[in-house]
Amino acid sequence: MWNIKKIKKTFNILGLYNEFNAKYFGNKLGECKFEDSADPCDYIPAVAAIEYRNRRNGAKAATITFNSMVDWDERSIRQVLLHELIHFYVFTRLGFCPCFQHGLFFIINMLRINIMHNEHVRMFWHGEKITWSKDRPC
Ligand SMILES: [Zn+2]
Repeated sequence: MWNIKKIKKTFNILGLYNEFNAKYFGNKLGECKFEDSADPCDYIPAVAAIEYRNRRNGAKAATITFNSMVDWDERSIRQVLLHELIHFYVFTRLGFCPCFQHGLFFIINMLRINIMHNEHVRMFWHGEKITWSKDRPC
């Protein structure tokens, strides 16, 4: 079981966030918090989930929750964090819109990052026990 302290420390999440924000999103991503789903009340059906906030000053913020039950490793953390950050980027640029979830803007940015930067972001996650699917927020 992974809690957020262990995830942050093991994979240097804040370092990865800063690296991705600078490299792939022009430092346009705002405040981002990271949590785990270790508490049964925070249960999420997906490998990860993101929640958005509009702050009073108009800035966009987000909280990313990692599923504590996933068997995380360097590669999966990188892929999943990037997937969620693309969602954050779409929200930052467009707010809530019809193509918000895994729409065109998400796909274009996923392809841009995968092709130009040799990453392996996926739209859906086919883990052994926990998956991302179309009708689940992730
Ligand atoms: Zn997603």
